[in-house]
Amino acid sequence: MHGALERGEFVAYFQPKQRLADGSIGGAEALVRWIDPVRGLVPPDDFVPYFERNGFIINVDLCVFEQVCALLASWIEQGRQPVPISVNMSRAHLREQDFLTPYEQIRARYGVPASLIEFELTETLVFGDPETFMGVIDLLHARGYRCSLDDFGSGYSSLGTLQNLPIDVLKLDRSFLMSSESGERCKAILDGVVSIADKLAVNVVVEGVETRDQASMLVRMDDRIIAQGFLYSRPVPRDVSDAQFAVGFIEPNERP
Ligand code: C2E
Ligand code: CA
Ligand code: CA
Repeated sequence: MHGALERGEFVAYFQPKQRLADGSIGGAEALVRWIDPVRGLVPPDDFVPYFERNGFIINVDLCVFEQVCALLASWIEQGRQPVPISVNMSRAHLREQDFLTPYEQIRARYGVPASLIEFELTETLVFGDPETFMGVIDLLHARGYRCSLDDFGSGYSSLGTLQNLPIDVLKLDRSFLMSSESGERCKAILDGVVSIADKLAVNVVVEGVETRDQASMLVRMDDRIIAQGFLYSRPVPRDVSDAQFAVGFIEPNERP
């Protein structure tokens, strides 16, 4: 894994986030892939859990972060209007004192404003330790980053978390959308969570939007929702992503 890191085999892919109101691209999420010369493209589920256990995920996350800074810096240099990009932060970082310092060093090297970067944190990151979680968010905010709560609705998520955490963005897990199709009660819960987030002035991103029906249900709920999913684009390599952002809009593409 150290050799793979040195050879640049951990590559950030980008998945756009679409504003439902006008269809414009409002941001992107960076998602790592291991491009192995023998195995080909290895998806994160095959190595991230293992690297979380041995701590190597810290290096991978920083490597993805650097690729994000490089992309943002290139947009700024070309005079293009940059959109915020989010990165996933593993809980392993929190075991380190000053976990933010290496991030800050990379960002300083590329001269990218922190306001263009969002950290995606999962609730399980500090499950049972909300004070640490709060401290992390305060620290990230103090340095100018945005924070999102990832995978909301997939596990332990509770309304109590929403009450206490000063997050900027709530990312509703794919399972939320799937269950909302199975009946009015589930849909009512989704609708309720969206309006609670709105009242708390928290932006909502819905993950796993795959069909036009899902997108139109969401836009009827609240047209400020930001959608992320295969309907717009799968995660793509940097050059493809660059082209998507140059256009600023992706035509929904539903596969049968
Ligand atoms: P995640 O953070 O919840 O990322 C969203 C996952 O949903 C991505 O899977 C994405 O490809 C997938 N997805 C997006 N739209 C759709 C859709 O419409 N339908 C379906 N079925 N799936 C959709 P991916 O890229 O395989 O990543 C899996 C997980 O691996 C991520 O879940 C995240 O937890 C982790 N991961 C990915 N990159 C990184 C990273 O750089 N650092 C860390 N620490 N974890 C990462
Ligand atoms: Ca994520
Ligand atoms: Ca997620």
